[in-house]
Amino acid sequence: MSADYQPVEVCYYGTEMDNLRLKRHVKIICTLGPASQSAEVISNMLKTGMDIARLNLNYGTLEEHARTVSLVRRLSIELGLQTGIMLDCPGLKKYPSATVNAAFKKHLEFARSQNIDFVALSFISTAEQVAEVRRLLTAIDYSVPLIVKIEQAPALTESDLILDIADGIMVARGDLAIQISIEKVPLAQKRLIKAANQRGKPVITATQMLESMVESPQPTRAEAADIANAVLDGTDALMLSEESAVGKYPVAAVETMVRIALEAETAYPHDERLRDAYLTSLPEVNDATARAACQIADQVRAKAIVAFTAGGTTAMRVSKYRPIQPIIAVTPSEIVMRRLAMVWGVHAVQRTNPVSLEKVFDLAMEVAMGLGVVMKGDRLVLTAGVPLMVAGSTNLVKVHVV
Ligand code: PGA
Ligand code: MN
Repeated sequence: MSADYQPVEVCYYGTEMDNLRLKRHVKIICTLGPASQSAEVISNMLKTGMDIARLNLNYGTLEEHARTVSLVRRLSIELGLQTGIMLDCPGLKKYPSATVNAAFKKHLEFARSQNIDFVALSFISTAEQVAEVRRLLTAIDYSVPLIVKIEQAPALTESDLILDIADGIMVARGDLAIQISIEKVPLAQKRLIKAANQRGKPVITATQMLESMVESPQPTRAEAADIANAVLDGTDALMLSEESAVGKYPVAAVETMVRIALEAETAYPHDERLRDAYLTSLPEVNDATARAACQIADQVRAKAIVAFTAGGTTAMRVSKYRPIQPIIAVTPSEIVMRRLAMVWGVHAVQRTNPVSLEKVFDLAMEVAMGLGVVMKGDRLVLTAGVPLMVAGSTNLVKVHVV
């Protein structure tokens, strides 16, 4: 690497709302509740930066949650956003002496009836319990990413096994602090985030991130530092709980979180992450392609990485290498598009399958220009697979000059 090496400056040419989202890599999850039921508040939260709405089934009725689901979907479509919806199932928290099956079944069936994008599982202790939920999902014919909340001491001990079977995890600091004592939470957070990052699985950092904003329009200095540290630890997503569900300033909380995250990201160690991720690279073609795409994008100062992804895996693999450039995921699947809302640095769009490689290149340019991430003369790096759009076939990296 030459001595005068400077990382690429990524700039944007789109609308202000698009630019703010494209610049930010870390995702924002907002718990909806009584303070955020109206179309006006939800719409403002979406415009400000909410990527995923979390509905907590520990509160409210299923009818109320169904109404919120359709409201979020309608507003998100109106705003041209790809908002994901996560149902947080209390399960063993609410029914501690029930079996896994009895504790979760009703809520999983509800999630299926609503076509929910992510299901979070509370009070899981073991990987075997997650496997049990998976069997239950198979039995009701519902395929959904499972986010396991790490909030019980045994789950922390078994976190590697749980990470192998989960689609993502949540560092659920509220209950975790009660279970393992509070001074152990910061290091548990760092360890869990690192383990998830190494596997290329999304990790959420949750609870009390802006707690004082339940009552106050301003956060504390400590909260600003907490958010910045979670970002630099490598979290994929930051979560608001009471701040957006029952607080007085739900929209200001989102705005504050965005502002602190964006500033923290100016110190994000993209180079270091790309170098170190060599150690966790997998002997798989799509992982190798993703790493190569990030290295090339860095070296040729590309402005964007466009990943054609049928099932979402390729975009997730690119995210694992933490490039500074926005990762534009192009997928034919609406479900995949919304699932990618949780993944660090990824902005997904839905497009029908291109019919030839030539059309793949055209579409990459069209999408990137449409979003305002590239202009004439800029370089973009794209990844795709031949045969076209077959899940798991990613094997091609191309540098394109717009
Ligand atoms: P909860 O989970 O909000 O459902 O309690 C998060 C946590 O425990 O931190
Ligand atoms: Mn909890």
